[in-house]
Amino acid sequence: REDDRISRITSAIRVIPDFPKPGILFQDITTLLLDPVAFKDTIDLFVERYKDKDISVVAGVEARGFIFGPPIALAIGAKFVPMRKPNKLPGAVISQEYSLEYGTDKIEMHVGAVQEGERALVIDDLIATGGTLCAAISLLERVGVNVVECACVIELPDLKGRERLGDKPLFVLVS
Ligand code: AMP
Repeated sequence: REDDRISRITSAIRVIPDFPKPGILFQDITTLLLDPVAFKDTIDLFVERYKDKDISVVAGVEARGFIFGPPIALAIGAKFVPMRKPNKLPGAVISQEYSLEYGTDKIEMHVGAVQEGERALVIDDLIATGGTLCAAISLLERVGVNVVECACVIELPDLKGRERLGDKPLFVLVS
């Protein structure tokens, strides 16, 4: 049952208070990876949702989007595109800046990794303020890719990231 799978996934996520700084409740998915049943359930739930949606690109956000994205991409027959922190990709890149609580950050994607008109799913482990996912969406849309949906294992609803995404659909397993 779907509910049993969600409860197992929820229980497998470890919450660590005050990491990396005081006041943050860190959602640690490394314990989910230690439970092969819960990890497989996580991937299966995404695959069941996206297998018949004609998605040709799974774009994963560094670093934890690199854990969940590739098994989903393989299962639905899509390519995996890493969206990386600055100055990691060796080829020509297009980049997108976004604002953090203090200062700005940037993500980058290789030029030529995706083609205009492709249909993409953007994946990360968690949505907080939504800034990271918004940057990933902008990057893909700037090169003419249709971002069908964003998916995360965890949503922190108090931070209202879903609102920041506007009318872009967001699918999460645990809230
Ligand atoms: P945001 O851009 O604010 O939606 O933040 C999302 C990114 O920050 C994701 O890549 C998460 O992995 C990371 N992140 C933010 N808050 C947390 C948290 N409480 N626990 C774990 N990761 C977090």
